[in-house]
Amino acid sequence: MAVEQKIRELQHFINGSLVPGTSGRFSNVYNPCTGEVIARVPLATREEVRHAIEVAKNAFPKWKAMSGGKRSEIVQRFRQLIAENQEELIEIICEESGKTKEDARGEIQRGLESVDLAINAPHMVKGEYSVNVGGDINAFSRKDPLGVVAAISPFNFPVMVPLAQTSMAVAVGNAVILKPSEKVPISALYISNLWKEAGLPDGVWTVINGDKEAVNELLENDTVQAIHFVGSTPIAEYIYHTGTKYNKRVAALGGGKNFMIVMPDADLEKAANAFIGAAYGAASQRCMALSGVIPVGKETADKLVAILKEKIEKLKVGPYTDDNVDFGPVISKESKETILGYLERSLKEGAKLVTDGRNPEILKTLNGFYLGPTLLDEVTPDMEIFKYEVFGPVRIVVRADSLQEAIDIINSHELGNGVTIFTNNGAAARKFQDEIEVGMVGVNVPIPIPVGYHNFAGWKRSNFGTGVMFGPDQANFYTKRKTISEKWLDVDTESKVTFAFPSN
Ligand code: NAD
Repeated sequence: MAVEQKIRELQHFINGSLVPGTSGRFSNVYNPCTGEVIARVPLATREEVRHAIEVAKNAFPKWKAMSGGKRSEIVQRFRQLIAENQEELIEIICEESGKTKEDARGEIQRGLESVDLAINAPHMVKGEYSVNVGGDINAFSRKDPLGVVAAISPFNFPVMVPLAQTSMAVAVGNAVILKPSEKVPISALYISNLWKEAGLPDGVWTVINGDKEAVNELLENDTVQAIHFVGSTPIAEYIYHTGTKYNKRVAALGGGKNFMIVMPDADLEKAANAFIGAAYGAASQRCMALSGVIPVGKETADKLVAILKEKIEKLKVGPYTDDNVDFGPVISKESKETILGYLERSLKEGAKLVTDGRNPEILKTLNGFYLGPTLLDEVTPDMEIFKYEVFGPVRIVVRADSLQEAIDIINSHELGNGVTIFTNNGAAARKFQDEIEVGMVGVNVPIPIPVGYHNFAGWKRSNFGTGVMFGPDQANFYTKRKTISEKWLDVDTESKVTFAFPSN
């Protein structure tokens, strides 16, 4: 008789403790490498979210009143704990997301850059001061935390994105509610315990698990002052419009369709290597993954496609438990089907298969959500596969006759997250930087993700509002400025009624 294994039931993290969900609704969490359910995550009701918000609201005043230096000490201890527990965290990321261990290690490192910046929060919110702006008045500004703020995260970086969204929010004195992706909630719960261990007061950090219902309560609840969303473009747009309708500050970062232009003078071997890593790494499930390459000129295109074909055919797909794989599965069966749908339809529209990843050779015992690397040539901007972000290893070649045409193709796209050019021609690189309508730009750098102390944000429909995913601007997003004009009156101070508009 088969022994039935009990599936682990996850919880929420409220008021410094794990608490079970009460909704009776759950979502399965998979190991994408095996296709097995590893846990089920509760999906919170509006009532549960309201309770979490009340707890956060009650924790806020004391946290706000703590000195910036003391808060920074706690953030610093949190950073230390992540570093000390990195190996365990890597295992968790890999199991619930399917990415390789090296990739998970990289994501933690990049996430820590946001924590490092947050440790400097007192410096970043210290405001301005002017002595005697007129009539013995001193003017100064201060940046106060907002109160209860919420972050809503995507599945593809279970640790890096939540750290990027929330570290500064905590450090400047807010009470933070994280709603992680229901596909990868285990990493967020693990991090919650590290905050607790670091000494963060109960209630300042909350993880509420859920889906649209939980998100809608966060969007509509008057106590929540700001929403920081990272995810797909359609949901980002919904979050932006709904959150602003409820008078909240909203950052809503969406998807990307990121291209690499390859100029005729570029070293094609180097360009091909750069493309392959940035295009297929993490099974292409990165908002900054290269979606396609635009070689300039027929000769460049023919040579580059031949080099890419040879290299892509050697890539190894498989589970993270094998240290030699280049990338793992996609996140879910549904995602795999969506990606295959784009691929099939692109062939009907006239795209040409260079490499076909539809049936990758994976260990026969594994039922994971694998797709091999596919490259499609002769894609044109009117095809569906050009227009939409495809979140999986199907990448495209769009041929252009000139740099101008390549720039125009990219600028015609509704998304504008990342872009890069490979060239040794300074004038071409300068023209590209000047004319390209994209937020993060590389020159001979395949994934131009800024370092943590620069701002990360796309343009156009890759970002609704003016928020950033990480970087110094987070300090402004999570604080409100108060500008104070102060004068002390003594007995000699002249006093009279004046009706003129005050001036210096
Ligand atoms: P997603 O939009 O499906 O989900 C993101 C979050 O929104 C999840 O927490 C999910 O529970 C919630 N959500 C989903 N549907 C909702 C709805 N109808 N109403 C309210 N909430 C809802 O995104 P995903 O598939 O988890 O992540 C991949 C996407 O995220 C890709 O498009 C990728 O490009 C994007 N992304 C963008 C950035 C960036 O900084 N621009 C970074 C990482 C990922």
